[in-house]
Amino acid sequence: MNLNSYPWHIEQWEQLMTAHQNGRMPHGLLLSGPSGTGIEDFSVKIAAKLLCDNAENSQACGECQSCLLFTSGNHPDLYKVEPEEPGKQIKVEPIRGLIEFTQLTSQYSSYKIAIIQPADAMNRNSSNALLKTLEEPAGNVVLMLVSSRPSKLPVTIRSRCQQIQFHKATEEIGKRWLMESSDIDTVRCNEIWNMAQGKPLYALELLESDLALQQSQIIKDLRGLLEQGADFMQIAQKWHEYGATEVFHWLVYLIALMTRLKLTGQSDTAKLQNSQDLQQIINQLNLRQLVSSYDMARRHYQAVTGLYNLNQTGLLEDFLLFWQGQSSTGG
Ligand SMILES: [Zn+2]
Repeated sequence: MNLNSYPWHIEQWEQLMTAHQNGRMPHGLLLSGPSGTGIEDFSVKIAAKLLCDNAENSQACGECQSCLLFTSGNHPDLYKVEPEEPGKQIKVEPIRGLIEFTQLTSQYSSYKIAIIQPADAMNRNSSNALLKTLEEPAGNVVLMLVSSRPSKLPVTIRSRCQQIQFHKATEEIGKRWLMESSDIDTVRCNEIWNMAQGKPLYALELLESDLALQQSQIIKDLRGLLEQGADFMQIAQKWHEYGATEVFHWLVYLIALMTRLKLTGQSDTAKLQNSQDLQQIINQLNLRQLVSSYDMARRHYQAVTGLYNLNQTGLLEDFLLFWQGQSSTGG
């Protein structure tokens, strides 16, 4: 496990290091920003640094007793709360465990650190249970709430935390990091970077999984549907297997991109993945059609990531039908 902070997190890292050095480390921190930019890793790395024995280092040393405990996952002064499964709620029991943890004296270090990730997965009981600890924390406790959707947190929780805002990485920093972290050439790096929309960890995930292939296939499917040659049910089934959240997330980005290209009359799609497919779609649809498709993708994305369990297959088919319907009226 690499305990060094990411290069696009320098500003946030230094902000907290300054607070730490001045003995003004906040008790409650809300770390928020886009997913795929490594905010959770930031919380872990800053925890390692605060617990590290070698105070003079700017990052956790990785070698001291505390760092060894940390990397083995057994540090007694660190407590992590996550949902039992991704996408599920954080129930009240693990939060009660966290509260007990904060009430014990630290075993090893000067801090006791708890990380809740994603904090917006806490249900109402969990949030209520946490409130009191946030209001009256023990002297050396630091609670870090990680969330890419901080508006979903109760105001009472948000108002008791100092919010640290994270951002996407700049192209220069993000691409350099991606090249260093993987074994790819500049052409592939450009391609993946464009797909990852400024999110370096997401870029790495694209490289290491089937996601890049799936995204490319979605572009081909969109073109195929417009040209009437594609098998509707087969595509619906395939997109369902990809996952409605991923598909709509990608569609929102993709259609926004095509709309922008259409609007600016820019024909330079060459450096984008599937550039010929994209260009064909842009030529075939008018601006109004692109904008309504974007609206629908966005609405459905919000629906599948919202609080209610909606029929995801139904939403996918709804979008596909709408898209297919554009072929007869476009131009
Ligand atoms: Zn250390």
